[in-house]
Amino acid sequence: MKQSEFAQIFDTVNIGLVILDKEIRVRYWNRWMSARSGIPADQIIGEPIFDFFPHLSTPSFNRNCKTVLSFGNFAFFSQKLHRFLFPFKPDSSFGYHFDLMQQSCTMGPLRGEDNSISSLFLIVQDVTELATYEQKLIEMNTIDALTGIANRRSLETRLKEECDRHSRYSRSLSVLMIDIDFFKKVNDTHGHQGGDLVLKNVASKAVSSIRKTDFVARYGGEEFSCLLPETDGIAAEIVAENLRVQIEELENHFHNNLIKVTISIGISSLGPGDCPETLLKRADEALYQAKRSGRNRFIRI
Ligand code: GH3
Ligand code: MG
Ligand code: MG
Repeated sequence: MKQSEFAQIFDTVNIGLVILDKEIRVRYWNRWMSARSGIPADQIIGEPIFDFFPHLSTPSFNRNCKTVLSFGNFAFFSQKLHRFLFPFKPDSSFGYHFDLMQQSCTMGPLRGEDNSISSLFLIVQDVTELATYEQKLIEMNTIDALTGIANRRSLETRLKEECDRHSRYSRSLSVLMIDIDFFKKVNDTHGHQGGDLVLKNVASKAVSSIRKTDFVARYGGEEFSCLLPETDGIAAEIVAENLRVQIEELENHFHNNLIKVTISIGISSLGPGDCPETLLKRADEALYQAKRSGRNRFIRI
């Protein structure tokens, strides 16, 4: 096949193709690259690529160019690690998760007739769609769809990490188990939609009333759980009481109705030899006691 025929194919493929010489000047820039960058081939060819994309001139990119040109290695710039090499707008609505097109790039050597390396090629693949699906999958696995806060799975992962960390350094860690009182009545009176609104409001209030380093998750149904790192039992009681008051004062407006709810809270703190399960079990037992002793209160055991 003639070179001009290859050029026709390279200008039609749905990937970016770039050739750089030993001085990292652009030798080839296919139509895909022109279209996404807004830089026509005749403007960039012969110029150092760093003149147009200064952010590319990082030690790692330069090192990769050097090893490809000197040793004929291949270099990969994965989307997970680098996100992108060229800051292009995403092609389609798949980009809504990302401001910029996510790219997976490969760099490799180009050899001349005498087998010596004369330049390097760069293949740029748009993986925004794939990265979006991946992100959605991660969200579905870790975020509760109704309230938008962390779900039980994230809580369990986080609790394990925090327990490991806190027992290793003998730091205090407390957990709150929170349950909305008489929630069944909210559903019975206002329907499921009314109940859902209350769940969303309680979740937001819980998130906004705790510290950034704390972690709140929807544990299930109308139960929430809160991890309080660097917090002993006494300090956890203050957090719990503050939360209890905030929820008691929370006004949920639904179809001209004002729905008021209260919460009961069980508190437990990490003790020597505790594992995540024992900590949660104790907080659950404390919650049960808070319910039995009249609700709208906290109990710590
Ligand atoms: P208690 O004070 O003892 O906690 O009483 P309760 O009525 O809150 O407890 P119960 O466990 O009997 O009822 C929980 C209710 O929560 C029952 C269930 O229908 C409702 N629920 C669970 N998940 C959801 C949800 O996603 N949306 C709505 N609207 N309701 C939910
Ligand atoms: Mg419950
Ligand atoms: Mg309840």
